[in-house]
Amino acid sequence: MAATGAKRVGVIGAGMVGVCTASWLQRDGHKAFLIEAGEPGHGASFGNAGCFNGSSVTPVSMPGVINNVPRWLFDPLGPLSLRWSYLPAIAPWLLRFIRAGTPEGVRVQARALRPLVGPTLEALRPLVSAAGAEDLVHRLGHLYVYRSTESLAKDRLAWELRRENGVEIDEFDADELRQLEPALSRDYVRGVLVRENGHTSNPLGLVERLLAQFLRSGGELVHARAHGFRLEGRRLAAIQTDTGDLPADAAIVCAGVYSTPLAAALGDRVPLETERGYHLMISNPEIMPRIPTADADGKFVATPMDTGLRFAGTVELAGLAAPPDWRRARMLLVQGRKMLSGLAASHPEESISVWMGHRPSLPDSLPVLGRSSATPDVVYAFGHGHVGMTAAPMTGKIVADLVTGRPPAIDIAPFAAGRFG
Ligand SMILES: Cc1cc2nc3c(=O)[nH]c(=O)nc-3n(C[C@H](O)[C@H](O)[C@H](O)COP(=O)(O)OP(=O)(O)OC[C@H]3O[C@@H](n4cnc5c(N)ncnc54)[C@H](O)[C@@H]3O)c2cc1C
Repeated sequence: MAATGAKRVGVIGAGMVGVCTASWLQRDGHKAFLIEAGEPGHGASFGNAGCFNGSSVTPVSMPGVINNVPRWLFDPLGPLSLRWSYLPAIAPWLLRFIRAGTPEGVRVQARALRPLVGPTLEALRPLVSAAGAEDLVHRLGHLYVYRSTESLAKDRLAWELRRENGVEIDEFDADELRQLEPALSRDYVRGVLVRENGHTSNPLGLVERLLAQFLRSGGELVHARAHGFRLEGRRLAAIQTDTGDLPADAAIVCAGVYSTPLAAALGDRVPLETERGYHLMISNPEIMPRIPTADADGKFVATPMDTGLRFAGTVELAGLAAPPDWRRARMLLVQGRKMLSGLAASHPEESISVWMGHRPSLPDSLPVLGRSSATPDVVYAFGHGHVGMTAAPMTGKIVADLVTGRPPAIDIAPFAAGRFG
């Protein structure tokens, strides 16, 4: 229960982060309500790969990243691409991104991330069991597969960072890999299994079930777009929305990639960018991997979902406004067929669906998590980039700590909004 008395707390954004946060606040005795401008769970939380990877401590910007930028610009269908027309707009973010990828920097970032992502399944479990959503969450591990020993060697630092942060792995050669995952193409010669990881077989379904439990337990969902905060001195009086002011003792910004203007309304300027990602699903595939399987070179994951086989991933730096480049989703199918050779060479169009979503990303691959500079009553919880599903349960717990007045369970100094100066 709340140590400093129950508060009325508005949580802006009903994606995975917002719903987990509202749920943890409610469990702490607060009167939480969610404010959602669209459909709950239909942002980035809708179409991701569904992985709860506590091992995901490796930042996107790694040492030497600058050497890859020309390739991103010239290969629009590559695993990472950067649209020429967006280059001027993204240049400041890109510079920070490149600067973040020093050998010392990535070690600091990995150390900061591990306590946020490592306990993901433990922090999710109470919410899942209250919601009766156990059938949607599985702890079967995560497999990374490589087509050559050289490509595994290229990932050496990433595996070092995981090991340094207590992640245990099992390595497999080609024959062992075949036994572990018979669906995989024989082109793969190395595999690394992280047993501690889990996944959801329905990301949207999971958000919806957690939300339903939150509402059953007395939570509210307000359909409105938040655009600012009414302060009285340094205290929050109300959250301003397009349907009027909503009085609140505290507000939590969980609006994913759309959080920038809300932070700016309180004078905090954060370099938040979209790392656009795609998925392609086959509703009735001939085969599926048993567990989420990542093609390390292709930067995509094949996840067995309740509704079919999902290939998800890749990064496109092209901003919020540009229309999706569906060729990128189609590339996932080309690559997926190479990964799982038992898949048919063609599928009827009605069994294929595609999606594009916006990962909310800071240049150093760390979220913004902590109090605003204008008032202690507004807490930021956004910018989880590639690991938002995974980090959501612990993020919710930490926000509940802050609102209730307990010291946060982990060190959140690395996640400060003001870290970019
Ligand atoms: C292809 C792809 C694969 C991924 N795979 C994984 C994975 O396997 N594991 C993992 O951990 N992460 C993964 N991610 C990342 C993950 O999906 C995101 O980090 C996460 O979903 C972000 O959740 P969120 O709640 O912050 O944002 P969202 O899910 O985007 O939710 C934000 C919500 O806020 C609402 N909103 C915005 N502005 C306002 C406003 N002003 N007022 C009211 N409401 C507002 C939006 O409508 C939206 O519903 C992947 C992402 C992509 C694109």
